[in-house]
Amino acid sequence: MGIRIGDYELTVLVDTHGVLGSLAELFPGVPAEAWDPYRNLYPELFDGEDWRLPFGCFLLGSERHTLLVDAGVGPPQGSFLPSAEGLLPTALTEVGVDPDEIDVCVLTHLHIDHIGWACSEGRRLCPRASYIASRRDFNWVEGREPLERDRVLQPLLHLVRSGSLALVEGTIEVAPGVQMVPTPGHTPGHSSIRIASRGSEAIILGDVAVHPALLDHPEWVYLFDVEPEPTVATRRVVLGGIEGKDVIVACGHYPGGVGRLEREGRRTIWRAVE
Ligand SMILES: [Zn+2]
Repeated sequence: MGIRIGDYELTVLVDTHGVLGSLAELFPGVPAEAWDPYRNLYPELFDGEDWRLPFGCFLLGSERHTLLVDAGVGPPQGSFLPSAEGLLPTALTEVGVDPDEIDVCVLTHLHIDHIGWACSEGRRLCPRASYIASRRDFNWVEGREPLERDRVLQPLLHLVRSGSLALVEGTIEVAPGVQMVPTPGHTPGHSSIRIASRGSEAIILGDVAVHPALLDHPEWVYLFDVEPEPTVATRRVVLGGIEGKDVIVACGHYPGGVGRLEREGRRTIWRAVE
């Protein structure tokens, strides 16, 4: 099912797939032809001139803990991916996990495609879990214009009111060997999840590099990288920490979700683990 990282098993759960828009609009500084090498490397991510992508979450299970990293697009969300309905609850059932078993739900950042199922219509996806998010991200969302703020906060408000959302700062251990690490830029409080267990290592990137082409071109900026310069700096630091090491690299927007970085000629590419 998933891939083993010491005491943990890491499994991608795809909430949905969708077309986000044209590459030219979403990556305004990147010339159209610059995408060509990546069309061959990652054909699943291209739909003509548009970016088609999965929206995945991750399950991290050991004998003692079951963690969910991110909570997907959620039920139909108005104008965001109107054609796509999230399937995370079904995906959990398919891998034999009862939401009651999940004891921690970590949110890498507070963008709508990562929190959708956290709590819908007052019902928590993981009734017994403690939810964890970044305080910096929460403050940032609260300061946005009301329409955007309410849309993002809606899946979180019940959690906040019931005291089940822990807002944290800095690096924290969310389970033995599992750390939530600040990787700011894509959002101000963006975090990645590092797993180190029995000599094996993995990182769940969150949206440090939303398209695998950015692993090869860390300087490319995505329209929704909230703080472009810190995003690029963080991307370089994170990539530098992975380079030359045997680290599993996971991102919910990559085809297959869980893989490794490889050098292919002068390129850094991402290859899913079969
Ligand atoms: Zn995302």
